[in-house]
Amino acid sequence: MILENGVIRTLEPSVPIGRALAIAGERIAGGVGVHETALASPDVVDLGGRCVLPGFNDAHVHFPTWALAQRQIRLEGTRSLDEALARVAEAAAHAEPGRWLRGHGWRSGDWSPEEEPTKEALDRVTGATPAALMARDYHSLWLNSAALATANGDLEVAGGVVERDGRGEPTGVLREECAWHFRDRHVRPTEDEMVEASRAGMKLANARGVTAVHDKDGWLGALGVFQRLANEGNLSLRVWESHPKDELDALLALPLHGAFGNDLLRLGYVKAFMDGTLGSQTARMLDGTGVEITSGDELAETIVRAAERGFPVAVHAIGDRANRDALDAFERTHDVWASRKLRPRIEHAQLLSADDLPRFAQLGVAASVQFSHAPSDRDLAERFWGGKTDGAYAYHSLLDSGALLANGSDAPIEELDPWAGVCAGVLRTIDERPAWHPEQRVALEEALVATCVNPAWLTGDERRRGKLLPGYAADLVVLDRDPFGVEPDELSDVRVVATMLGGRWVHNAPPWD
Ligand SMILES: [Zn+2]
Repeated sequence: MILENGVIRTLEPSVPIGRALAIAGERIAGGVGVHETALASPDVVDLGGRCVLPGFNDAHVHFPTWALAQRQIRLEGTRSLDEALARVAEAAAHAEPGRWLRGHGWRSGDWSPEEEPTKEALDRVTGATPAALMARDYHSLWLNSAALATANGDLEVAGGVVERDGRGEPTGVLREECAWHFRDRHVRPTEDEMVEASRAGMKLANARGVTAVHDKDGWLGALGVFQRLANEGNLSLRVWESHPKDELDALLALPLHGAFGNDLLRLGYVKAFMDGTLGSQTARMLDGTGVEITSGDELAETIVRAAERGFPVAVHAIGDRANRDALDAFERTHDVWASRKLRPRIEHAQLLSADDLPRFAQLGVAASVQFSHAPSDRDLAERFWGGKTDGAYAYHSLLDSGALLANGSDAPIEELDPWAGVCAGVLRTIDERPAWHPEQRVALEEALVATCVNPAWLTGDERRRGKLLPGYAADLVVLDRDPFGVEPDELSDVRVVATMLGGRWVHNAPPWD
């Protein structure tokens, strides 16, 4: 197949642009514009001036959770407790008797008047139907009385918080490990539910130009979900799957030596958490506040044990203290993982002290960030991290220091929409306001490298995909125009037209006119 009459952006600096692209089977065949005639059956696609980029690789997504969230009560964007309750009331009116009401997306920091959710407020709209509503950052869980009753008082877990009122009664909000413990015991989705939702989610992700993801739902059994989708022929993304640190023994009990799987689905790395989040005010800070989920010593031990069996670690760190502890752990264990050529990463790297920022590049630890978080968290960051935001979401500084940046959505926290992420990285605003900390904007090219090229490096695939070069996988996205040819304020108007995975159209096969 030959794609011609368009702009091919290879993301390889030595041959950045071509006019045509030849594809043979699953791979990119010729160079640019010269080898078409060498192909046996030149099936020609007229790009009509459109632009081709390597497929988008979302470097941080909770895929089954995101897919399920498409079907739950959506509380994103609610501006008051009452507005959130009205949405729950609407869903409650159609609830099936005996089934849980599930929802997510609330963020009390966005509400005015300022108030925290309570079980009493929820009871008024749900009655006796148990309801569990995850916060937007998934680090707090809001329950009603019927839901709380199912736990029989078993709410406390180390590393978590049970919010209590003046009388010592649970208010209905659980945080961190307490929230997750409750969810896992009482409202965990079944594998069938995850497969069904993910089957639809796969198509939606493809429609947004996604050809690969680094999934974070290993703890939820996502490996099995993706395997079932692969078995039935419905896995149309390349998945780099995580394994939870808390179940490291189970992974090490298998006779594996590093990432295991195939071109579509691989179990690749261990995922850990250092702290909570900005929105829940549980990020671990140098001022001593926040929640410690994993200590530096514990992380170092995990890094070593995983590395000895060929697995790198990806660790969630939001606050400046959490990032420092994680960097310290990677530094102490450097010989063990670096000698095995493992590619560790810190997820989010949201708030960095000036002393720690250069350490990502120095140590060779990647910053797996989410460009969308900066503009969507700006108000909360100004409120909770006032005076420190110079080191917050410091993407340009990280690039300047030589750090490797990978971009993800953290869906469902932000929408699984890499193009929106690219725009957020370049513009640093998602509304009418001027850019937030404009000095931390990244160039379009840098945003695309973080979205297409670097995630492939993190999975050891830098010579097989992530760029549009001969021999690489034919994973690509067709955009309706060349984003390098539009004004910055038009960038968010660019649309995905079609998506190809391994030489096969997985979204909107041509012709397009
Ligand atoms: Zn996440």
